[in-house]
Amino acid sequence: MPVSQLNTEQINRYKRHLILPEVGMEGQLKLINAKVLCIGAGGLGCPISLYLTAAGVGTIGLADIDVVSPSNLQRQILFGVSSIGEEKVKAAGKRLKDLNPDVKIIEHKVVVNSDNVLDLIKDYDVIIDGTDNFPTRYCVNDACVILKKPNVYGSIFRFEGMVTVFAPHLPNPDRPGEHGPCYRCMYPEPPDPGSVPSCAEGGVVGVLPGIIGTLQANEVIKLILGIGRPAIGRLTTFSALDLEFKTFKLRRDPACPVCGDHPTITKPIDYEEFCGVPTLDPKSLAETEAEVRTAKTGGNGQHGFDANGLPPGYAFKPDWEITPRQVKSLLDEKKDFIFIDCRLPNEYAITNIPGAKLIPLQQITQHFGELKGHENEKIVVHCKSGGRSMQFTQILRQQGFKDVKSMAGGILLWNKDINPGGPQY
Ligand SMILES: [Zn+2]
Repeated sequence: MPVSQLNTEQINRYKRHLILPEVGMEGQLKLINAKVLCIGAGGLGCPISLYLTAAGVGTIGLADIDVVSPSNLQRQILFGVSSIGEEKVKAAGKRLKDLNPDVKIIEHKVVVNSDNVLDLIKDYDVIIDGTDNFPTRYCVNDACVILKKPNVYGSIFRFEGMVTVFAPHLPNPDRPGEHGPCYRCMYPEPPDPGSVPSCAEGGVVGVLPGIIGTLQANEVIKLILGIGRPAIGRLTTFSALDLEFKTFKLRRDPACPVCGDHPTITKPIDYEEFCGVPTLDPKSLAETEAEVRTAKTGGNGQHGFDANGLPPGYAFKPDWEITPRQVKSLLDEKKDFIFIDCRLPNEYAITNIPGAKLIPLQQITQHFGELKGHENEKIVVHCKSGGRSMQFTQILRQQGFKDVKSMAGGILLWNKDINPGGPQY
């Protein structure tokens, strides 16, 4: 049953809305009777759900499978130290209920995928994409187009963010007679796997999701109330470093495979296959787990390494790699070798291994000169977790260096096995 009247307590709570002619009693009732689903309870989902709860949006679904980890707290303002290790949807539910007991919070502890997406979104009026991966974005987009739900989209990376509303079933306010575009009109193809770093890899300034998520919440409220000019057909980007907003026009692509004139995608597809990456990055899952364990045990957690100090199942390549334990022996025995840290200076400042010389992978060619003459010496390269150091190793070998190896697992593994409790980042 829709709510048709506010009680005294509600009138008091929402009076700053009620005196706005654009909202008023009628608008507040629309908010109370609205159902929105926020996909992702992370950096964007936190401000989105906080503001929508505060605004009195009556039913808010939250979909997320993750648990709260210490590194979330830099930006995910729903959570505190006491929520570490707790399911995000559960921890969020408690905080939001405390903020506004009127609001019904529905916890969906699921990975959104082609099997469940239609069922998940069908009862909601507005869908909000606050995810951080491409399979989920395409999945949410297609389902929203198919079920004619507006999709309030936001994304963030480092110091840059963007917001728009995808709604091919609604008019484009800037182009009479035209409808809005969808995510596929903007990005017909997913990026090459691995070509776009995640926030975990590339970093993100903590207030940025606050700004972008708040803009998304604002679009949701406008859509529910039917006021203002929704961001349909417009993409607004924000640069935190320049304090600059830019707006670009987006148009629906009549040839779009899902919202075009002759759609070929009429039901959800396999998005992991389409994007070539898993929805859940196994590396970031392992990282979260390790972070939570360290936070809970003060760094004395059991890591369960194998006899060589490597994570179970690690495909060690003896011709190319050296274990942190072997590197430790080389250092302890004061063996003559060149030890290179190929990360960036800001990463070096977070944590480093004494004795390692910083030569960022990006600057490798500038250092060929100083390495010249050492072609026959032992060289060990490390990075954060082993990827860049392997590239560095391959490049040096191509340059004729004979005995170069990459330290397996990078400094993250070093900081578990050799220097336990050392920073994980
Ligand atoms: Zn489209």
